[in-house]
Amino acid sequence: MHKHASRFPSICKKKWINVPEDHWNSWIWQQQNRLTTLEEIGEITVVKESEKAAFKKCAEKFNVAVTPYYASLMDDTDENCPIRKQVIPSHSELVKSDFEQADPLGEEAQSPVPGLIHRYPDRVLLYTTHNCPVYCRHCTRKRKVSDPASMPFKNDFQTALEYIRHNVQIRDVILSGGDPLSLSNARLEELLKSLYEISHVEIVRIGTRNPVTLPQRIDAELATLLKKYRPIYIMTHFNHPKECTRESLKAAIRLADAGIPVMNQTVLLKGVNDNAEILKELNHNLLLMNIRPYYLFQCDAAEGISHFRVSLEQSLKIIDQLQGWTSGLAVPKLIVDLPGGGGKVHIAPEKIIKDKSGHISFKNYRGNMFEYDDF
Ligand SMILES: *Cc1c(COP(=O)(O)O)cnc(C)c1O
Ligand code: SF4
Repeated sequence: MHKHASRFPSICKKKWINVPEDHWNSWIWQQQNRLTTLEEIGEITVVKESEKAAFKKCAEKFNVAVTPYYASLMDDTDENCPIRKQVIPSHSELVKSDFEQADPLGEEAQSPVPGLIHRYPDRVLLYTTHNCPVYCRHCTRKRKVSDPASMPFKNDFQTALEYIRHNVQIRDVILSGGDPLSLSNARLEELLKSLYEISHVEIVRIGTRNPVTLPQRIDAELATLLKKYRPIYIMTHFNHPKECTRESLKAAIRLADAGIPVMNQTVLLKGVNDNAEILKELNHNLLLMNIRPYYLFQCDAAEGISHFRVSLEQSLKIIDQLQGWTSGLAVPKLIVDLPGGGGKVHIAPEKIIKDKSGHISFKNYRGNMFEYDDF
C-alpha cells in the first residue's frame, strides 16, 4: 500500500459503472470504447453551443478521441474543467493567427530520413506512429498526429535505424509520435531490440501520454518487456493534478518497480494549469508517484492553439512562485522550443543584478538582495 494512496482518488466510472473490472482494466477495451462523436461526449459532460458548432470542422482537421478512463475524469457540468478543455475542440481551433504554423518547430527541414528528426548533435527523435489513445487539442504535431498519411511505410524504421547505425554520435533516441505505446508490444519490442543492438546508443526515451490517458496500457507484460531493454526513460505528459488518479499511480509504481525512471513534461496551458498553485499540487502529486517534473513547456505556435498560450512574462512569474518555495525536485525547467527548429531554450527569471561599477548582487527567492564577489 502506498503511504499517500488517499491522495489519489479512485475515479467515478460514470456510465461505465457496470462494466466488468477486467474490461475496464484492459487497455484494449479502453481503446475499443473510445468516444469520438459529439453525441458520445455529450453523454458524459456538458457541451457548449459554440463547441457543438465547431465540433465537426475541428474533428475533420484533427481527430477527436477520448478513452472512457480519461473521459471519466471530466466534470459533468463545469465548462471550465481542465480535462474537458484538453479533449473537446473549441471554435478557437479554427482561428488562424499570423504567427502560427503547421510545423512550428521546423521539424521537416531537420529530417534527414522520413520519420526521424536530427536537431541536436547527440540525440534524435523518431516518429513511430500517428495514433494516440486521446487526441490533445493542444498537440504541437497536429499536422501529422491522427493522420494515417503521415505514417511512413513499414520499412521506414529500417531507414531510420540505418541512419542511427551510421551516425555514431547518436547516443540518445527518443521514440515519439503520436504515442509509441500505441504500437503493439511485438512491434515495440522489435524497435527496442534493434536500438539496443546498436553499440553507440546509450539510452532510449519513450515519449508517451499513456500513463495519463490510458494507464491500463502499463500492464505487467509491458513492464517485463521494457525491463529487458534498460536503460529506458519514460517521458510523460501530466498537465493537471486531476490526472493523478489511483490508476495512474498504479502504472507509475509498476514502471518504478521495473527500474524505468519516469519524467514529466507539462505544457503550460491557459485556463488549464497557468497558475503556480495548480502546478505545485501537480508536481507534488507527481513526486509521490516517483515521477520527476522535468520540463514546463511554453505552448508552441502550432496552428489553432493560440487560445492556450500563456505570455512569457506570466510563465516566468509562475516559475518565480515555485523556485525556492518548494522542493527543487518539484520545479521543472521552463522551456521555449524555438520556432524554426532553433531547439529548446531553458529560461528562468533574472536573479543577477549588476550595479554601475560592475558589482554583482543576487536576488533570492524572497526578493532579498545578497552581494556576491565574482572573480
Ligand atoms: C525535445 C527534443 C529532443 C530532446 O531534448 P532534451 O532537451 O534532450 O530533452 C531531441 N530532439 C528533438 C527533435 C526534440 O524536439
Ligand atoms: S498524446 Fe502527445 S502526440 Fe498525442 S495528441 Fe497528445 S500531445 Fe499530441
